[in-house]
Amino acid sequence: MPLRQPALVERMRPFTSTIFAEITALATRTGAINLGQGFPDTDGPRLILDAAAAAIHSGRNQYPPGPGVPALREAVAQHQKRFYGMDVDPESEVLVTAGATEGIAATIMALCEPGDEVVTFDPVYDSYAASVALAGAVRRTVTLRWPDFAVDEIELRAAFGPRTRVVLLNSPHNPTGTVFGRATLELIAELAREHGAVVVTDEVYEHQVYDDAVHVPMATLPGMSEQTVTISSAGKTFSVTGWKVGWLHGPAELVAAARAVKQFLTFVNAGPLQPAVATALGLGDDFYRSLATGLRAKRDLLCDGLRAAGFEVSVPRGTYFVVADAAPLGFDDGVELCQRLPELAGVAAVPVSVFYDDPDAARSLVRFAFCKRDDVLREAVDRLGRLGRVSR
Ligand code: PMP
Ligand code: GLN
Repeated sequence: MPLRQPALVERMRPFTSTIFAEITALATRTGAINLGQGFPDTDGPRLILDAAAAAIHSGRNQYPPGPGVPALREAVAQHQKRFYGMDVDPESEVLVTAGATEGIAATIMALCEPGDEVVTFDPVYDSYAASVALAGAVRRTVTLRWPDFAVDEIELRAAFGPRTRVVLLNSPHNPTGTVFGRATLELIAELAREHGAVVVTDEVYEHQVYDDAVHVPMATLPGMSEQTVTISSAGKTFSVTGWKVGWLHGPAELVAAARAVKQFLTFVNAGPLQPAVATALGLGDDFYRSLATGLRAKRDLLCDGLRAAGFEVSVPRGTYFVVADAAPLGFDDGVELCQRLPELAGVAAVPVSVFYDDPDAARSLVRFAFCKRDDVLREAVDRLGRLGRVSR
């Protein structure tokens, strides 16, 4: 008998492929420099690679404990204390996840009943919309607009209502590079408290902030540790995006809820990599400082190059992405430009409009990643310099 309906359930039909996979495939096919998908082109510190290898060779290859290996949970708690002064109980308030992605999915699925509302900030990291859809919940969107991508208070207030269950926040923010300031965070916190909503905060770029920007974790705001789930990951900080080791922490009840879902998504993950990430989190201040200093120089290299090539640039204060406007070069459609960019300039980038519910908010905007070697960035900038001379 033929299938009665399409294989994929309706709520997941808008999510059949990811822009990152598409653009990486395009870059691979064409040999373009891939400034699309955000992953570094160098490995993380030798020390942690060795720690992972040692764990594999010393027999740590079976299922780790459900909440994560004790050393990593302890290291997460110490990291939160060291950088932000937070007190986190590694026993009951930390869960290790398969990347931040699983942490987000498990938390949303644990907290949201069908029809519950989740406030998100557009442009939104693609997995958020899919996680909300998986839960059968509904997104209420606050739009961050070019060029400063600030939160509009009126729009923010309007996004909250009686069914608001979660505010899904991401700061430093991908793709815009915005670092939410204390005043904005306080406003979000006030509204979350007023509506009894949980703030789920994705802080995977916590150590990638530049200039005078300061990363303020939502959970450090007065009263917010009680209703915040904080999510982060080793991928960005330690340049090991393929390891997919993330973690979340928050009040024991919320963490237990996320754990209940996680145990039936992956049960556990990355046994031998977990002790290596514990080692990584304990790296000295020099490591964390040079991560930000190195990336800031790369940001400047790319931003200068994009400007010289004719783009208008919104200089990011966090993450390793920069959003540029291609309209001054005569390209009004970022999606079309990103499809043609490998052929026009030998570089791949990601259109920003795909992260917005309202693509008109970002028609001609394009995102470039700068977590690449300096010589690669220089070559990319050189190639992009040709764009001004090509016909549209
Ligand atoms: N959140 C944001 C904002 C991201 O940019 C990414 C990209 N990797 C993730 C989550 C996913 O992190 P992970 O690879 O640890 O799942
Ligand atoms: N977080 C990375 C980015 O924003 C990519 C992650 C992915 O490919 N899903 O580019």
